[in-house]
Amino acid sequence: MSEFVPASRVSRIKSSPSVAAAARVRELKAEGRSILDLTVGEPDFDTPEHIKAAAVEAITAGETKYTSVTGTPALQKAILQTLELNTGLHYSANEITIGGGAKQVIFTAFMASLDDGDEVIIPAPYWVSYPDMVLANDGRPMIVPCGEDSGFKLTPDALRTAITDRTKWLILNTPSNPTGAVYSRAELRALADVLAGFPHVFVLTDEIYDQIYFGAGKLTGLVEAAPELKDRVLVVNGVSKAYAMTGWRLGYGAGPAGLIGAMNKLQSQISSCPSSVSQAAAAAALSGDQSFIRTSGEVYRSRRDAAVAGLNAISGLSCSTPEGAFYAYVNCGGVLGKTTPDGSVIRDDQDFVLYLLDLASVAAIPGSAYGLGPYFRISYATSLAVIEEAVAAIDKAVQALS
Ligand code: PMP
Repeated sequence: MSEFVPASRVSRIKSSPSVAAAARVRELKAEGRSILDLTVGEPDFDTPEHIKAAAVEAITAGETKYTSVTGTPALQKAILQTLELNTGLHYSANEITIGGGAKQVIFTAFMASLDDGDEVIIPAPYWVSYPDMVLANDGRPMIVPCGEDSGFKLTPDALRTAITDRTKWLILNTPSNPTGAVYSRAELRALADVLAGFPHVFVLTDEIYDQIYFGAGKLTGLVEAAPELKDRVLVVNGVSKAYAMTGWRLGYGAGPAGLIGAMNKLQSQISSCPSSVSQAAAAAALSGDQSFIRTSGEVYRSRRDAAVAGLNAISGLSCSTPEGAFYAYVNCGGVLGKTTPDGSVIRDDQDFVLYLLDLASVAAIPGSAYGLGPYFRISYATSLAVIEEAVAAIDKAVQALS
């Protein structure tokens, strides 16, 4: 029998740790264990009814065929209007692309732009997929640690130091997965001022959580703060998080026509287009009633407040207040070196997360997955009851350490 040998790009990457964590929780649940699951990276709400109705209508009307690579006219219009509203800038149809989720848009952007050894600056903690997507496309992830002292955000000095002649992209993610950190307009401006000196650097700004924002007014994105960068910024967004539509797989990107054209050319050979039915649903989401964003946002906010207050009350743990998304990044430096009731020492965040799963039946994701320890990520896209129960169980588990 012949043995299959995968391409080298496959051995360069790992499977997504958050997908793996979710799979582990499903396994434990299937074994009958009751798990307080704080790993979930998706809204726990159902997709709003008017969006589902638009999809049903599309199916009934026979919108079940390939669409153009660049999407249906209705979706294009909805995306262009949304961009104008969110960025204050005008985008044309040849400056947007759609894909099977923001994830695919990001992957295609790297595939369209990276040559062997091109560097991508990734501030850590980062969304788990960025480094592997870069590696899969022959690039070099250049990780820049961004500690809690800078709010887990990239500073202008750190950016300046990280840029080389080979830098192709800087990735920004605001609000951030895993920290919930949000760049202010002034912070974005300061980064843009550094970028002014390096015109060869493009910026991928992942704003998939921009509608889950707890500050006053709306979130400021990169091109809104620095419109002069528009011709070298790819704004990535989608409907997954804002409208509880993770399973519909629809995301979009907006950027310079040359990059977008290259991405669309690839897409024409990869998938032709995302699902026509999901496109109809996404068009309804973006152009229809937006009240879900406000009502779900209020729920997320109360869960955030409960989670942050509860975790900060536990001795040995601390957590700054996330300004967006539905995650908190909890510092567990205070429990390292302690001993569990069965005599093993907690050496790092991975040990602590395993301990929590064993003793407290709480599932979280270790900071090592996001490139910055000793932390763990919790998601509060789950009920207040689960959050409160999990915080109490974590407290008890920490108290059992000696
Ligand atoms: N970017 C970030 C930061 C994310 O957390 C996620 C989802 N986990 C994505 C992109 C991908 O979203 P989508 O469902 O649109 O592919």
